[in-house]
Amino acid sequence: MDCNWTNRLTGSWNNRNRLFWCEKLSSVILIFLTALSPLNSTADHATQVIANKTVSIGILAFRGVEQAQNTWQPTIDYLSANIDQVQFKMLPLDLTQMEQAVKSRSVDFILTNPGNYVDLEYRFGASRIATIQNTHDTDPRSAIRSALIVRADRTELQEINDLAGNSLMAVSPEAFGGYQVIWREMRRHGLEPERDLSEIQFAGFPQDNIIKAVLSGEVDAGVIRNCLLEKMAGTGEIELTSIRVLHADTYEQPDCLASSMAYPDWPFAKLTHSSDHLAKLIAQTLLALPEGHPATVAGHYASWTIPVDYQTVHDLFRELRIGPYEWMNHTTIRDIWEKYWQWALLIFLGMIWWLWHVYRVELLVRVRTAQLSESNDRLKHEMRVRQQTEEKLRLQQDELAHVDRVSIAGELASGLAHELNQPLSAISSYAQGCAWRLDAGKMTLEEFRDINQRISNQAERAGAIIERLRTFLRKDDTACTDINLNSAVQEATALFASEAKKYRVIVTLELAAKLPPVCTENIQIQQVIINLLRNGADAMSNTPEAQRVLEVRTYTEQGYVCIAVKDSGEGISDEHKARLFDPFFTTKSEGMGLGLSLSQSIIASNHGRIQVESKHGQGTTFTIEMPIYRGAAEHDD
Ligand code: ADP
Repeated sequence: MDCNWTNRLTGSWNNRNRLFWCEKLSSVILIFLTALSPLNSTADHATQVIANKTVSIGILAFRGVEQAQNTWQPTIDYLSANIDQVQFKMLPLDLTQMEQAVKSRSVDFILTNPGNYVDLEYRFGASRIATIQNTHDTDPRSAIRSALIVRADRTELQEINDLAGNSLMAVSPEAFGGYQVIWREMRRHGLEPERDLSEIQFAGFPQDNIIKAVLSGEVDAGVIRNCLLEKMAGTGEIELTSIRVLHADTYEQPDCLASSMAYPDWPFAKLTHSSDHLAKLIAQTLLALPEGHPATVAGHYASWTIPVDYQTVHDLFRELRIGPYEWMNHTTIRDIWEKYWQWALLIFLGMIWWLWHVYRVELLVRVRTAQLSESNDRLKHEMRVRQQTEEKLRLQQDELAHVDRVSIAGELASGLAHELNQPLSAISSYAQGCAWRLDAGKMTLEEFRDINQRISNQAERAGAIIERLRTFLRKDDTACTDINLNSAVQEATALFASEAKKYRVIVTLELAAKLPPVCTENIQIQQVIINLLRNGADAMSNTPEAQRVLEVRTYTEQGYVCIAVKDSGEGISDEHKARLFDPFFTTKSEGMGLGLSLSQSIIASNHGRIQVESKHGQGTTFTIEMPIYRGAAEHDD
């Protein structure tokens, strides 16, 4: 029933209260309807269907036939008295008999404990039509609890799992409140009774015996329904202080101490073959049973209420694998296969698909890897070919440069030879003629002086030829401009950059912040610097790559602007140092030996000087020193 309106009225109520009152309200409405007369009219109708029939009600007699009759006969009589023309007969049954009776349909209705009901519901389709309301204030869904008791002086037994290795007494393995409820709690604490306890005794009813056994020390612990302790203490049979309830502070304790969660109270249930009309009548009649009626007093309950949910009992059975879920203990592979073969097939197909997918991905990865390594190889090959081509090109360029140098030298030599040939042959023939005439004794002093003059003239002519060539090679030193040597150094090193890379040398610059100008020709001074850089790089060809550094520094010193080029090469021996600036002095197989001699004449023509400092094996520093330029007039001086 929809109880939202109560919710609106009493917004502060908690869920449990709301449900409780909702059920109560449903009961009141049913009672009201029953009182108005539909009960009688329905009864009339039902009586037509089941007139003069004796209806059997199987009742679980867990404390013996006599006790069951004392407890329930008044309720049965109440039904017989209030439902016309139907006679109700009570059949007190134990658990085995109950199962037999339900199976053989020798009972029409049952009144039993929640555990037994859930079992019969699962196996034979029993369905609850009403639930006992134990005391007026409690929720019928939370009626049954159990207490796990020990003697108060057994201080070592504080928690449920402290019971490991101790003995336990309970009602019977099938007793719901008398064993199974506590069994579940024990398992939740990691304690398996049959495995971990030293002994389990099943003493049956009454449960008073279990309390006595615990008190006497016959067993270490006992399982009883809750409130029994309090009841016995009330009658003075025991003292509450002599017994302790384990785990009592975990669950909400509405009335008496308990060690377990709560389960619903006993249900009144119909079986599949029993009349729905009669079931409805019984439900209405039970719900209408007033509190304080002799039937309720004898049955130790307050009233009846609409049937509650027994899911918690199902959960317990499933967890313990007992009752309707006992099959879970001995399920064979065949059972599982029959039950879940569709799922197994689906999983199998899924796995096949997955394996195929993995295989496909693996295959793709392999193909792609092969393609990648193939293109990698191709790339490496192309790089090798490229490097070889570059190397070849470099060699060809070197070769070309060498040929160039050789041909220039050749041309120079042949030009010189050609120019000098004439005066030299003239000198030679004058000298020969002079010798003959002296031998023949025909030479006068005058003639000798004349020949001597002619030889001298030819020698001067040869000198003039060489001077002409030098003048041709040398630039005019007056055409100087004032330049900053820092810029000349920067431009020269920039021009040398590609060669530096080839030589694998690093060029570092340390340029003075302010450098006075010098008078020279930019191209010429750059030529000198490049020549020094190249010589330095050549000298470091055997130096480890990490140390191949050419340091270029500019600074001012005593009226001169200086450029120092320092390498860490092999250095120069004293013997070579003496000949360093001689034309055509070289120690290189492809060198011309003109670089330093030309550099010296360029620097000298600009009124500067070039110096070298070196020790064999310790690197070399060449220093160019150029006079500071103080204006055109001074320079001309
Ligand atoms: P080349 O180009 O033939 O080397 P150079 O006149 O420039 O002609 O140099 C003459 C010789 O001086 C070189 O062959 C080399 O032996 C020596 N030389 C020049 N610079 C250095 C240097 N920095 N370290 C060692 N030796 C050098």
